[in-house]
Amino acid sequence: MRVRFWGTRGSIPVALTTSDVRDRLAAALLKASGRSFASYEEAHAFASTELDFSLTHTFGGHTPCVELEPGSDEYFVCDMGSGARPFGAHILARQAGRPATVNVFMSHVHWDHIMGFPFFGPAYVPGTKIRIHGCHEVLEQAFRLQQSPPCFPVEFDQLAATIEFVKLEPDRPATVSGLTVTPHLQLHSGDSYGYRFEQGGKAVVYSTDSEHKLENRAEAEGFARFFRDADIVIFDAMYALADAISVKADWGHSSNIVGVELCQMAHAKHLVLFHHEPANDDATLEGLLKEARRFEELTRTDHALKVSAAYDGLEIDL
Ligand SMILES: [Zn+2]
Ligand SMILES: [Zn+2]
Repeated sequence: MRVRFWGTRGSIPVALTTSDVRDRLAAALLKASGRSFASYEEAHAFASTELDFSLTHTFGGHTPCVELEPGSDEYFVCDMGSGARPFGAHILARQAGRPATVNVFMSHVHWDHIMGFPFFGPAYVPGTKIRIHGCHEVLEQAFRLQQSPPCFPVEFDQLAATIEFVKLEPDRPATVSGLTVTPHLQLHSGDSYGYRFEQGGKAVVYSTDSEHKLENRAEAEGFARFFRDADIVIFDAMYALADAISVKADWGHSSNIVGVELCQMAHAKHLVLFHHEPANDDATLEGLLKEARRFEELTRTDHALKVSAAYDGLEIDL
């Protein structure tokens, strides 16, 4: 199974600014001083292999959209944030005219998680089948509402695809085109649901927009069970721990450190920090990643937990 991140920022999309680009360019030129490149390809290879991560990547960007590729003809995706636009373009290119079947799993319907759907190309292709799964009663209403006048020029009913809404029950495993999926209720304004996907002995957990109160043992143990032995846990790490337990307590999000703690309790293998705070620049996000890795080293017991920070374009193979 492959996991591909199309959107990793929380709340609202962000882009690098002109000064960010210029700073990186200047730093890259400095690194390349004394070198000469005979072609674009040579320069590209230098950038890919010899420049620091901070010069060649940026965290976040689009709002949540994470694809699972279990090796089937159908598509599987968590949330329809603004990353759904490039995800849709990827589907159209790959299908080359053949209509696609897309299985969507919605954590909840806050705007950052649905805003990409009106720009999801396959929704405009006749013959496309889109099944939107979720546990919220308001699922269909929210998708229709954001495409209602006067907010958007194309109404939901004008979309060419066949769109079906499928209700899932929390903590009850369902099989969707060969993939087992179990939703789990999370603490967030209006409720959110995490999803545990399993196939061929591999497990991926998508758990965003979720606040944790670790002093509540029953809650912590419930999530430890939900994350149990997962190969990847994609985790809401919007805040630093100090913010999450003070000024931003009850804002419905979690932190890098809580992610490490829960994954350690669950013996998960790989924690991916996700839903980055839009106010945080790359240096801050790199700092949060380093802090989480350091905390993991200091608190490690019998098994090591790998920690990464998600960025648009990240692919992880299981
Ligand atoms: Zn969100
Ligand atoms: Zn939310």
